[in-house]
Amino acid sequence: MDIENLLNKLPRLNLEDKLYLNRFKVNNGNPHLSIKHKELCQRCEEKSCVYVCPVENYKIANGEIDLSWEGCLECGSCRIACKYGAIEWNYPQGGFGIKYRYG
Ligand code: SF4
Repeated sequence: MDIENLLNKLPRLNLEDKLYLNRFKVNNGNPHLSIKHKELCQRCEEKSCVYVCPVENYKIANGEIDLSWEGCLECGSCRIACKYGAIEWNYPQGGFGIKYRYG
């Protein structure tokens, strides 16, 4: 059997299915990312964080950025995309954060 036939036999997963494979250990009350300068978000027209986050942790609510950090994939995209450097981002403390169960 060639590799193409083998790959075609694998189940196709959508984004929600793939995200469901991850597990998180949340460090309650100790977020590893936050918006350190919300006043800069008011001036930002692009609001890139809303569009680059693959799990939609950033949302616009009442004209302000609303951040939910618990489901973070730790990809770092938001930190890079924010042109104002308004996002404080650190890896979670050891033992906390995402667990990629299948690599
Ligand atoms: Fe979203 Fe990635 Fe930023 Fe986490 S690090 S909030 S997954 S963009």
